[in-house]
Amino acid sequence: MIYHIMTLFPDMVNEAMQHSMIGRARDNHHIQMNFINIRDYANNKHHKVDDYPYGGGAGMVMQPAPIYDAYKAVERTLSTKPRVIYLTPQGKTFNQKLAMELAQEQEMVLLCGHYEGIDERVIDMIVTDQISIGDYVLTGGELAAMVVIDAVSRLIPGVLNNVSSAETETFDKGLLEYPQYTRPLEFMGRKVPDVLVSGHHKNIEVWRNEQALIRTYQRRPDLIKHTDLSQQEKKILDNYCKNR
Ligand code: SAM
Repeated sequence: MIYHIMTLFPDMVNEAMQHSMIGRARDNHHIQMNFINIRDYANNKHHKVDDYPYGGGAGMVMQPAPIYDAYKAVERTLSTKPRVIYLTPQGKTFNQKLAMELAQEQEMVLLCGHYEGIDERVIDMIVTDQISIGDYVLTGGELAAMVVIDAVSRLIPGVLNNVSSAETETFDKGLLEYPQYTRPLEFMGRKVPDVLVSGHHKNIEVWRNEQALIRTYQRRPDLIKHTDLSQQEKKILDNYCKNR
């Protein structure tokens, strides 16, 4: 996967994404990051890329020309037309399903806005997808791009040490993940559930499925509504509700 990141602050993303698994994935060439500093495409001696909004109003707006030229410079290096994702609070809310979809791409362009955002005309001209990381407003798209890169990259084969860990996680089947425990067996009087140290794999799987269901029902009932539950799973939830 090659991420082409169009930003005014390449160092911010580059530095933050040098650590832990993403840093390793870069070192091992499972993913690559190509930074395009939009300011390099400013056509004036002060490298100014923003201006006042037509019609008045607070703040500055990123001008279309530097973004368009920066994008064209990237496009010229590619053999196919990539998805061009504008990170914006006005976009489709990012989730695991979208991360899985994006993980199928070979490369993508991530466009980070700043100030009051980007001139609408260049969005219309180059952007294929608009993605929001949540219903709040950030100062820039860089953090949002990093969220997308992190969530997508860990789904790319080879990025995680343990392939199956991305397959049993929260949201994988539309449910939250079961609770996890590690050593010690007893911590400040609290013991790990017996079933997890029983060595009985079938019982462990049953317990984990039940916990995932109940936890999702308690914390994210909205997810349960959109999950296709088996008869057995519906029975588990009925029993849980009766015995509460
Ligand atoms: N005036 C814009 C609006 O009301 O929609 C918000 C601009 S915001 C201050 C500056 C930039 O931060 C945006 O262009 C976008 O790239 C990024 N941004 C802010 N919030 C975001 C979010 N929730 N998800 C993704 N990107 C976001």
